[in-house]
Amino acid sequence: MKWLLANGNLVLRDSILENTNLVINENKIEAIEKDSSMTDFNEIIDVKGCYVLPGFIDLHCHGGYGADVMDASLEAIGTISRFHAEGGTAYFLTTTASDSLENLQKVLQILRTNKNVIRGAKTLGAHLEGPYFAQKKHGCHLPQFVRTPSESETSLLLEYKDVIRSITIAPEIPGALSLIKRFSENGIVVSLGHTECSYDEALKAVEMGASHVTHLYCAMSGIIKNGVERKGGLIETALLEDRLSAEIIADGIHVPSELIRLAVKAKGMDKICVVTDAMRGAGMPEGIYTFGSMRGQEAVVKAKMAVVKEGTGLASSVFKMNEMFCHMYNNLGYSYTELASMFSYNPACVLSVQEKIGSIEQGKMASFTILNRDHEVEATIVEGKPVYLRKAAFNKSEK
Ligand SMILES: [Zn+2]
Repeated sequence: MKWLLANGNLVLRDSILENTNLVINENKIEAIEKDSSMTDFNEIIDVKGCYVLPGFIDLHCHGGYGADVMDASLEAIGTISRFHAEGGTAYFLTTTASDSLENLQKVLQILRTNKNVIRGAKTLGAHLEGPYFAQKKHGCHLPQFVRTPSESETSLLLEYKDVIRSITIAPEIPGALSLIKRFSENGIVVSLGHTECSYDEALKAVEMGASHVTHLYCAMSGIIKNGVERKGGLIETALLEDRLSAEIIADGIHVPSELIRLAVKAKGMDKICVVTDAMRGAGMPEGIYTFGSMRGQEAVVKAKMAVVKEGTGLASSVFKMNEMFCHMYNNLGYSYTELASMFSYNPACVLSVQEKIGSIEQGKMASFTILNRDHEVEATIVEGKPVYLRKAAFNKSEK
């Protein structure tokens, strides 16, 4: 099937092509052209000057519409996919919370056996957030599940290396360096986070293969003072070290604007990825929701914030990608091309899939986030198929 996505303002890597057409053949971009002969296509979707961005890629996403990945059901993952497709997410990493090995295996098994059945944002595999954290930096993860890695548990997890795409780990805990080496040798992205590590400890992890940093500034060490001595923590390592990319929760709540600007200034536009870190209360009425499984940490969702019950910290976000896009555009002033890097191309690079997805180029997957001028999502298209269309979004003409 060949169809035309007509009259888009296409956001490319370094420019915007106005009123341009995309020829889609099955799941790929066959051509980018100004004038198309309208008779050649099975279907034409006229997007009438909306912005067509490469489909957003969310490297850190736990839930939405009342569901969490740790519910460990296909239905829950489908609900999360549907919710985030409405926010322009084309791809996401199904992100687990710290839990028992058995419950993590349940999620991994579902991802393995149901790779292509979910309709909505497409999962690229799992991001294991934990359970190997510094005890004091567990954040909203239940402390009883936080532990140090063993060689045997690492081996059992590596049996799922076909579906695990990344893992967040604190590099200073016993056994961490061996896990980092084994996971990165198996092509899994090792991300540093939930940690009290020093600059030296973080650098050792980079030498072992760590390449990414989980929600920069949140649940991690900054300048460490010990007596008269000061050392850098993970924040300083992330800002300084070119071998590390970093993700940021750009909801305007977790991290103030000046810290986002500092990160972009220090690391450059090509090393920052925006993530939602969304939890099950995203897209739901205000109330109490658990982070992780139904037995997880309770959080109060109110005024677009999820706060742990004791009021001591945030428990993930309740945002969609397009809402973060809005924040980064309106309040921080980044351009569309810069945001396309931070929302699509950079996360594709983190996962080494930038040859297939992450930008609008001939031969790449036809995955797009289509935004109107108010940054509302008009459509999300994944590999040639619309997975979300706002009501009466566009005139479709079929033949
Ligand atoms: Zn998280």
